[in-house]
Amino acid sequence: ARSQGGRRWSQFDQGMIHAVERRHNLASDLRLAIERDELRLHYQPIVDLASGRVVGAEALMRWQHPAHGLVPPDYFISLAEQSGLINDIGAWCLDTVCAQLAAWQADGLDIHVTVNVSARQIPDGLTPAHVVAAAARHGIAHQRIGLEVTEGSLLGESAATLEWLDSLRQAGFRVYLDDFGTGYSSLAYLKRFRVDTIKIDRAFVRDMGRIASDRVMIEAVVMMASGLQLKVVAEGIETAEQLAMLRAIGCHFGQGYHFSRPVPPAEFPAALARIASL
Ligand code: C2E
Ligand code: CA
Ligand code: CA
Ligand code: CA
Repeated sequence: ARSQGGRRWSQFDQGMIHAVERRHNLASDLRLAIERDELRLHYQPIVDLASGRVVGAEALMRWQHPAHGLVPPDYFISLAEQSGLINDIGAWCLDTVCAQLAAWQADGLDIHVTVNVSARQIPDGLTPAHVVAAAARHGIAHQRIGLEVTEGSLLGESAATLEWLDSLRQAGFRVYLDDFGTGYSSLAYLKRFRVDTIKIDRAFVRDMGRIASDRVMIEAVVMMASGLQLKVVAEGIETAEQLAMLRAIGCHFGQGYHFSRPVPPAEFPAALARIASL
């Protein structure tokens, strides 16, 4: 299990949740979570490293469980994938993000938001038509919606997966390759799957100050991506030292606790103000 956000979720007892999971209670609770309005999206700012300005945010799901408190996604996304519920949850997520974008737009906040897409949702669970419809429902320009996919979820390399990717990009949505560096990343891969942005996994950022090869890997990815007209987001920036190194390397964007943890929408303006004063 991940240790991040430990303080925020201190009321959440991991030992208990494992026991509950074994009894399949969580899985059946999850079935009702949408209609009971227990799912939440928190937003983590994405910063343009050169200017220091917030240009976007990643939507990250939490489950406000009546008995267990705020459950992190690592505990219920896999349950949702196994049961197929991920399609309903993913549709809810996209609609909620579009509603949030409309609200921010009304407040004069012009940013983009990315949502995480599971392998299970590709290509039929979340179709390009679904995404177009969600954007239209809330009057959101397509280029302000980003879809984060992992290398693993594209690995099937089926015609249907490639078509999914291409039609989303042709419609103007942005596609992000998440957790880059942890899977089967290669140049050939990036050539086959045309994405807009690469997100470097935070494992590389975490160790870049200590492990030279991790810094070299980030440098190489930024250089390669720039040559391919791709943008790079560094995940998991926790220190000013990491930020300075990434800026020196020329990495385009970043997110991490150094700027802000993922926050509920009500706390987002305060997070923006804090980042502006960094
Ligand atoms: P991810 O997409 O790689 O998301 C980044 C994770 O890193 C988030 O964990 C975020 O809170 C955390 N993080 C951000 N900055 C830092 C930092 O500076 N230091 C550290 N240590 N961690 C940082 P979170 O929110 O617990 O999400 C975990 C995973 O759950 C996500 O990994 C994603 O794979 C999945 N997930 C979250 N929301 C959704 C969703 O709506 N749909 C799907 N399919 N998956 C989701
Ligand atoms: Ca992500
Ligand atoms: Ca990631
Ligand atoms: Ca991840």
